[in-house]
Amino acid sequence: MKKTLYDYTYEQLIDYVLVHDQKSYRAKQLYTWLYKKRIATIDDMHDVSKVFRDHLKNEFETNSLILKEKQVSADQTVKYLFELSDGYLVESVLMHHDYGKSVCVSTQIGCNMGCGFCASGLIKKQRNVTAGEMVQQVLFIQNELDANDERVSSVVVMGIGEPFDNYDHVLDFLKIINSDHGLGIGARKLTISTCGLIDGILKLAEEPLQINLAISLHAPNDAIRSQIMPINRVFPIKDLMQALDVYYEKTKRRITYEYLLLAGINDDVKHANELADLIRNQNAYVNLIPYNPVPEQPYQRPSIKKAFAFYDQLKKRNIQVTLRQEHGVDIDAACGQLRSKRMKEVES
Ligand code: SF4
Repeated sequence: MKKTLYDYTYEQLIDYVLVHDQKSYRAKQLYTWLYKKRIATIDDMHDVSKVFRDHLKNEFETNSLILKEKQVSADQTVKYLFELSDGYLVESVLMHHDYGKSVCVSTQIGCNMGCGFCASGLIKKQRNVTAGEMVQQVLFIQNELDANDERVSSVVVMGIGEPFDNYDHVLDFLKIINSDHGLGIGARKLTISTCGLIDGILKLAEEPLQINLAISLHAPNDAIRSQIMPINRVFPIKDLMQALDVYYEKTKRRITYEYLLLAGINDDVKHANELADLIRNQNAYVNLIPYNPVPEQPYQRPSIKKAFAFYDQLKKRNIQVTLRQEHGVDIDAACGQLRSKRMKEVES
């Protein structure tokens, strides 16, 4: 598989051009063509010498992403299914919020974490998605938004895959889209969501990037969490909380907890109290998400009444919380649903 120029952070591209006897300003020119002018081919880079353009064409693919399918929901959430150059499929989602356009990207083909509520976990990891392939997910959507003079204002690394199981590519991806020479999406508008890989949390704590961290917690105790998330048997809640304390000490950045409400499993007021006990001393924020059922998994969505009772209890306990408005419930919007559906069609 050939690399693309989208795989390079700005600093890596400076190193690359210097190694190839070019001046360092060449990196800025290339980034401008790729991210500001958003050209389709290397031949469009008119201020780059023909010799160096030919060299780049030999070394790199320009585009390794082909749109295979697009679904638009009633609330205008758009789900994209892309084919990569080796034939694997990857999903991205565009969501419209009152604060801007947000893109959710996928970081792996399949996922080894095996969360019991997730369509993606049904397909084991085939490979990591490269930084350049993640960049191109965002660029493709940005190019569509260009037609209405709109821009991607935030990115969540919350699609298929566990980002910290692909740490280096994910960090490069975030640096590329954050770069002022690139798309210039503010670090505070970038969020990584993890199921709780402690090594990744501790490594991120050392990065000089002001990005947001979200933890897919989904349960207030080990018994429930281990039942629905196998990773909890490796990194139980106590260890996870200790790592998050270290993360907070180093970064002083608020931690977001994602909490899927699964009917009859983790959605009782007593679970809300347990959750409040767990995080009451943290600078934390809880995103409650009523579950969007996946046909292959046994879990159900709780009633609105139950979801609000949970929310109210957290509020009473002075926990910052939102009950998330869902996007695209009328399309295959749960993580991995569209991809697993298409793969099954291909297999059958
Ligand atoms: S929820 Fe995320 S980490 Fe868990 S199986 Fe699905 S994609 Fe993997």
